Amino acid sequence: MKKNELKAVIRYMLAAIVVLIAVIVFLSVKLKKTKADAENVKIVYNESIPTQTIEKAEPTPIITDYEINTEPDDDTDYLQLVNLENYIYELPDNLDLVERYIDDDLAEYGNSEILLNTEVINELKDMLEDAKAQGIPKYIINSGFRSIRNQTRLWNNRKESDPNYGKQPYENPLKCMPPNSSEHSTGLAVDILNTSYREANDGYGDTLAGKWMYQNAYKYGFILRYPENKTHITGVMYEPWHYRYVGKEVAKEIYEREICLEEYLNKTP
Ligand SMILES: [Zn+2]
Repeated sequence: MKKNELKAVIRYMLAAIVVLIAVIVFLSVKLKKTKADAENVKIVYNESIPTQTIEKAEPTPIITDYEINTEPDDDTDYLQLVNLENYIYELPDNLDLVERYIDDDLAEYGNSEILLNTEVINELKDMLEDAKAQGIPKYIINSGFRSIRNQTRLWNNRKESDPNYGKQPYENPLKCMPPNSSEHSTGLAVDILNTSYREANDGYGDTLAGKWMYQNAYKYGFILRYPENKTHITGVMYEPWHYRYVGKEVAKEIYEREICLEEYLNKTP
């Protein structure tokens, strides 16, 4: 190799090394910045939680444990409003295991040991018997009473995967509620799907079983709690599977006037 050629090769090599170093420096700065951004977002987020909605939506849960109380209690408030503005802190009375009343001829169970208010169970049973008699496929009872501790766990999981979740519920309605804001903690709400359609999504509302329940639930004291056109009031997504017991008279009025519980109670946010 000639001297000139050798010089040229060395020049190229030096140039290549310089470029390589530049790329490494650039990447490491960028990586650091991304990491810093991520940390900043986290810190900023943690410090900025007390926006009005989030502050309201994240009260400190005070219930840590519960016992099943099956003693009849005439004080149950079947119109209790639990939502993003109105919290529940107390354990409901009158809970019992749904399976003790409704056997698997009448319904499938998506979860074990589902608890509901005993009056609610009895009405639910009547409804499911009539649905069966009318040839509707078997329903699936997926969820009933949920302790505030359990709801807290669900909420924390959700917030972990999406820290911005629930910040603007009336524009961006929720599917998972914060602790103390879930109707499931009353023992008066039940999630029901069907063996013909097991997915908890909008499509269920268009099925025979979804429609049958929407059109008939009021006869047994239940309402579709989160209608499609009320998300700006409820802060909750359309949930064709979530039914709430309010008693027959009120349920009929809510169904016929096509309003939601907040509107019935004159407590819209
Ligand atoms: Zn539900």
